[in-house]
Amino acid sequence: MQILHHGAVNGVTGSCHELVINSQTSILIDCGLFQGEDAKDDLSIEFNVTHITALIVTHCHIDHVGRIPYLLATGFKGPIFTTLASASLLPLVIEDALKVGVTRDTKIINACLSLLNKRIVAVNFNTWFALPCANEQIAKARFQRAGHILGSAYVEIDIGINTKSNRSHRVVFSGDLGAPYTPLLPAPKPPYKADTLVIESTYGDKNHQGRKERTQTLKNVIERAVADNGVVLVPAFSIGRTQELLYELEQLIHQSAKGSPWRKIHVILDSPMAANFTEQYIKFKHLWDAEAKRKVAKGRHPLDFENLTTVDTHSEHIAIINYLASRQTPAIILAASGMCSGGRIVNYLERFLGDKTTDVLFVGYQGRGTLGRDIQKYGPRNGYVFINNTRLTINAQVHTISGYSAHADQNGLVKFVTGMRKKPSHIKIVHGDNEAKRALASKYKEVLGSEIKIEIGT
Ligand SMILES: [Zn+2]
Repeated sequence: MQILHHGAVNGVTGSCHELVINSQTSILIDCGLFQGEDAKDDLSIEFNVTHITALIVTHCHIDHVGRIPYLLATGFKGPIFTTLASASLLPLVIEDALKVGVTRDTKIINACLSLLNKRIVAVNFNTWFALPCANEQIAKARFQRAGHILGSAYVEIDIGINTKSNRSHRVVFSGDLGAPYTPLLPAPKPPYKADTLVIESTYGDKNHQGRKERTQTLKNVIERAVADNGVVLVPAFSIGRTQELLYELEQLIHQSAKGSPWRKIHVILDSPMAANFTEQYIKFKHLWDAEAKRKVAKGRHPLDFENLTTVDTHSEHIAIINYLASRQTPAIILAASGMCSGGRIVNYLERFLGDKTTDVLFVGYQGRGTLGRDIQKYGPRNGYVFINNTRLTINAQVHTISGYSAHADQNGLVKFVTGMRKKPSHIKIVHGDNEAKRALASKYKEVLGSEIKIEIGT
């Protein structure tokens, strides 16, 4: 058994791991797109895929699934295993990725989607399924809830080393792990055991703000918008953070006093994709956590409330920007992309970054080399950025709230291992900046002792 990493080694994007089971059997875990400074022009699959018998998808973020069309283009004919909710999201994500990055040709898009749909095998959580193997090898896998985004899972894979003695080797791939106290989804529970663990480290060197503190920051930013009739721009990934934020905003509006300006604030979801994903979140309500379910039982609609407007077409998008620019009215706008590296948020930033009444609120990780990272860095010093080749002074206030990241922080990543009944003998740290990986590695050494082999994935 061997594990190769085809992406997410020196950064946090392009997640793609290959579990080599024997010379004719490899299982791919995720097949993601590189973003930010990791971005590449040539996205075609650069490794041999003839021996890859299946793909396992942990969740539907683009940095975990974006290169699936290129995998299909190599002639890959194996099953794509994923959870029921992810199976429902995946065609939407791929369709969007193709439209944004590849082609608008409906024929090509439909051909790719039909190929994809033939390959998807939807599996329930906590249910073993057999992996196709050559040479009479036996291997099985099981998804467990990762609490990161809807449908997200970590995967346990048992490889039969000696079928007679029933001994097997368990490899756990964490995918992206959710944080405790994030809204909507329950936190992940550590696995019972692992022999080898491949774990993400996005926030391996940080701990998040607590939920109270985080909600307070969100409240303060909105308070300011309400006071000076400014806009709050929230660059958000379509899946995950958008729905968490809608959930928190509904709560803040719900608890505000009747007749307060809060009750009239516009919440604008300017992304047809995010609206589609929000519908999926509503469809899979049974996966929500207890708090969210209690609200539903009381007749509330945490993801579909009165103040919320969804913007669909491009002309509506332009119209809403003009409306907000001409009128002094407080509004919270959620638009993609999450790192401002494209998408409708860029038009808002171009129009409103120069206004003192604007607040930009980052709720997710900003990759190096992205416009988001630049605004985060230069915004607090009244610096400038270039958008569409135009120099723009940042007069807006810039805020970052880390808790909505939907990624486990260092504490969470440590608990994922210390909570196991049978600890792994080998941990491979992937999917993080170098500092994050190193910090997590030394934390593991400190907490787990020297008997466990801790390696930074290369
Ligand atoms: Zn993710």
